[in-house]
Order: sequence, then C-alpha cells, then structure tokens
Amino acid sequence: MRRKVGGFVLRVNPILCDGFGHCHELAPELVKVDEWGYPIIVTTPTPLADLGALESARYAVRGCPRQALNIERIAEQL
Ligand code: SF4
Repeated sequence: MRRKVGGFVLRVNPILCDGFGHCHELAPELVKVDEWGYPIIVTTPTPLADLGALESARYAVRGCPRQALNIERIAEQL
C-alpha cells in the first residue's frame, strides 16, 4: 500500500461564494466563518494522510452550492 505524502488546502473563490457558511458546517476543522458568514479557510496544509480531514474537505466541496471550493494538493513533504 502506498503511503500518502504531501498535503492539501481548501481554496475558495470569493467571487462565487454566497457567504452562507455551509462549508463550515461540513468541515468545521478546516473552515471558520467571519462575522458575516464568509469562510475563513485554514491555510496551513493538512496532511493527505489525515483521511478524516480529507473526507471533510470533499464533503465541503461537494456541498458548496456555488461550486466555490476546491481542494489544492500541496506536493511538499509535510
Ligand atoms: S459553502 Fe461555498 S458558497 Fe457557501 S460559504 Fe462556503 S464556499 Fe461560500
């Protein structure tokens, strides 16, 4: 079995985002919200080996009603 290396961060397109904060409900460990409900994304890369966080990120991407989120892979070794 190959070990997952590197990490990921969530990216938000602020032009598309509606600011209702649904992503925070789906991935609270990766997304905080500001006082208006807009997402504040954790910018520190999360290891790909953290499968729980990766699954949360995927939920958030799939659940975003504006398709404003994506997962960016970070190649460096964490
Ligand atoms: S779920 Fe999507 S549209 Fe809603 S606040 Fe999060 S990034 Fe913005």
